Amino acid sequence: MSDHTPGFSTLAIHAGAQPDPTTGARATPIYQTTSFVFDDVDHAAALFGLQTFGNIYTRIGNPTVSVLEERVAALEGGTAALGVASGHAAQHLVFHTLLEPGDEFIASRKLYGGSINQFNHAFKSYGWNVVWADPDDISSFEAAVTPKTKAIFVESIANPGGIVTDLKAISAVAKKAGVPLIVDNTLATPYLWRPFEHGADIVIHSATKFLGGHGNSIGGVIVDGGTFDWTASGRYPFLTKPRPEYQGIVLHETFGNFAFAIACRVLGLRDLGPALSPFNAFLILTGIETLGLRVQKHSDNALEVAKFLSQHPAVAGVNYAGLPGDRYYDLAKTYLPKGAGAVFTFRLKGGYEAGVSLVSNVELFSHLANIGDTRSLIIHPASTTHRQLSDEQKTLAGAGPEVVRLSIGIEDAADIIADLDQALAKL
Ligand SMILES: *Cc1c(COP(=O)(O)O)cnc(C)c1O
Repeated sequence: MSDHTPGFSTLAIHAGAQPDPTTGARATPIYQTTSFVFDDVDHAAALFGLQTFGNIYTRIGNPTVSVLEERVAALEGGTAALGVASGHAAQHLVFHTLLEPGDEFIASRKLYGGSINQFNHAFKSYGWNVVWADPDDISSFEAAVTPKTKAIFVESIANPGGIVTDLKAISAVAKKAGVPLIVDNTLATPYLWRPFEHGADIVIHSATKFLGGHGNSIGGVIVDGGTFDWTASGRYPFLTKPRPEYQGIVLHETFGNFAFAIACRVLGLRDLGPALSPFNAFLILTGIETLGLRVQKHSDNALEVAKFLSQHPAVAGVNYAGLPGDRYYDLAKTYLPKGAGAVFTFRLKGGYEAGVSLVSNVELFSHLANIGDTRSLIIHPASTTHRQLSDEQKTLAGAGPEVVRLSIGIEDAADIIADLDQALAKL
């Protein structure tokens, strides 16, 4: 394979993994251990001083988790990755690494509801100030830039509204401001969209969703694109100034284009502690082996379901970027040629009551707060995930009272449609 660049499905199965050198085990073993024996005192010292790579303690790194990290970095086309306990932990570590109290970051206001809460409340208590912008109005990002801005955060396909973000345009704003663009690529996955090819500098995932793909484990990943010039402005001293806790090492000098991933591990994960369990890493790795097959089927099914709903008399409208005529259809054609993903919303003519009734009457669909499972999932955001938000925030986030969110599974499309058909008939 020397000169040959492997394709997506090959990387999804092989990247980062070798047969176990001791036992020959072909599947990646679950290294269910807290700690690792040092070769000798010098080896231990070199590990603790960041002079050599290796395993110390599973809070900081673990061989099963490392395979997952290498695999997601390869699939996204990044330089390095860090596996963590959840998508929210990934966001926490990225911003903990980037920001100091009083700093600002600009975020798209169309985000997963949990991220809106995390930014508005938990992050505020650290003195990290979110400034919201509208992904449909690029000038609102430009207008939000101040000398305190340290990053821009968006979702590639935004949860829950089926919104496609114009990454090239937003990355131009980030470049002009001299700040990294962070993209949450959970809904698209690298199978449908590789944000580093469109100007992202850092990609994060809730691996809980399509990467794991089977609704059985919570996890998160941070991927360093290796693209951002951390030295240009002097505004990212965590990488460009000596680190007192590591004998004065300058992380950027030592680790170059994967210094940000190292910083998230040795300054964030080490001290804050949201480590991914090796068992969850194993399940997520197993999920990733079929990522391409699954996401294509998810996306093909979603298009069929969206077409069905768009013609149903009880439905006021469908927000799916794969549907011709959708406001994001052209962006989807540019960025998502293989399909527009599996998660989208639609609006019921019967409003809040109809939403509640629909989720009560489905049979094949599961009524729950997750996406990216093999199973088809349904939720009424206004009464659940987005209920903490004000009515205005709900509508701005694409989660008004009449909105229902679907995550289309990989069952037979005809069965998914039949279930919605019978439940809609009962409204
Ligand atoms: C679920 C989700 C998160 C949070 O991930 P957890 O693994 O639940 O912590 C972040 N972003 C998006 C887009 C999500 O769907």
